[in-house]
Amino acid sequence: MKIEEVKSTAKTQRISAHSHIKGLGLDENGVPIQMAAGLVGQESAREAAGIVVDMIRSKKMAGRALLLAGPPGTGKTAIALAIAQELGNKVPFCPMVGSEVYSTEIKKTEVLMENFRRAIGLRIRETKEVYEGEVTELTPVETENPAGGYGKTVSHVIIGLKTAKGTKQLKLDPTIYESLQKEKVEVGDVIYIEANSGAVKRQGRSDTFATEFDLEAEEYVPLPKGDVHKKKEVVQDVTLHDLDCANARPQGGNDIMSMMGQLMKPKKTEITDKLRKEINKVVNKYIDQGIAELVPGVLFIDEVHMLDIETFTYLHRALESAIAPIVIFATNRGRCQIRGTEDIISPHGIPLDLLDRLLIIRTLPYNKAELLQILKLRASTEGISIDEEALTALSEVGANSTLRYAAQLLTPAALAARAEGAARISPQHVRDVHTLFLDAKSSARILTQHSDKYMK
Ligand code: ATP
Repeated sequence: MKIEEVKSTAKTQRISAHSHIKGLGLDENGVPIQMAAGLVGQESAREAAGIVVDMIRSKKMAGRALLLAGPPGTGKTAIALAIAQELGNKVPFCPMVGSEVYSTEIKKTEVLMENFRRAIGLRIRETKEVYEGEVTELTPVETENPAGGYGKTVSHVIIGLKTAKGTKQLKLDPTIYESLQKEKVEVGDVIYIEANSGAVKRQGRSDTFATEFDLEAEEYVPLPKGDVHKKKEVVQDVTLHDLDCANARPQGGNDIMSMMGQLMKPKKTEITDKLRKEINKVVNKYIDQGIAELVPGVLFIDEVHMLDIETFTYLHRALESAIAPIVIFATNRGRCQIRGTEDIISPHGIPLDLLDRLLIIRTLPYNKAELLQILKLRASTEGISIDEEALTALSEVGANSTLRYAAQLLTPAALAARAEGAARISPQHVRDVHTLFLDAKSSARILTQHSDKYMK
């Protein structure tokens, strides 16, 4: 028995702070609506971003990139994500911070290349043989742990599958139980099981799923042929980086994902340039055959001034390759030194020849009313109840520090409210947590005032 997973490698954590954002919120003429699709204010930047979306759609962005320039917490990441969503919600969005390229283990250009490939999607359409039916019974059968260890393990799963031709009871590999749980399958759901790989999908909920296991193992009843068997078009959205990873950890099966994983033998655990080239070759073949379609996504590089001259040179070249994502840079710096050079000062710390290729959009600080609207949106997305007056207090905090700091106080304030048994956050809770935590500005001020008390 064998379980191999092709995990989605999306960086979900960084995106969760923006889960309320659904698009740019423009009307049919491309004019921003004050508050729409989760975005508030920042009208000029949103309108400009809308034009960029049109340019991307009409393929006029090739070889170019976008720079969002503005103070911290003014929605640069939010707007970049909104652009990705406008392009279609299956378009990959890969956020990274410039300083991520500095690692003691991985080359700078390798980090960049990995993120490039996280931002390029591939939509694969395959016709697969599947067993489809309604689940009438779902019983995991447990046995004592055979190795003399504690507890029990699932030894096999009994599934009833009802099709037009009647109901079959199947005794299946225990690893199917994990997939069934992951897909949250319950009795009454319609599922289909892929004939080759045994991956389980539940109709209508998740689209991408790829747990593989060995259904033909002898001790289990093989899936019945014929009566509950049909062909189905299965669409998978993966990124080139997902494919790189799958390839580095090969697995069985006859579907595209698994075959991609078997390109290079013996087993590899590292993603090399050679392996990427092989993958590109196969991807190009699938594209030519019409099985797969390339979906260029958005690579968002925050704090772009942290990149150095070497990475800029690499990026500049990569932007011109045929398989490139849409690159969006962001910075909150003005003129500064380009890292890795002795004395070259440049706007935003970006080399002039690259700057020349950029479209620049400015983001501006929010006023209190806008801060309040955004904080209200965040509170409701996070399921936090808060008083109107507390929201006003919090937006004042935001106006004096940053929006991000104010948004970060929401969770501690909610905990403070809960500790008191209060149903919602009051202005006092906001004041309490605001005195407990420091925003960056106050922290810097205290450091300067008491510099003699800190180690140097
Ligand atoms: P930094 O320069 O520090 O990286 P940033 O400009 O990228 O900051 P964001 O991370 O986009 O700022 O914004 C901070 C938080 O506020 C996020 O949760 C974001 O979703 C939210 N936010 C920012 N601007 C808006 C807006 N106009 N409408 C709705 N939410 C917003």
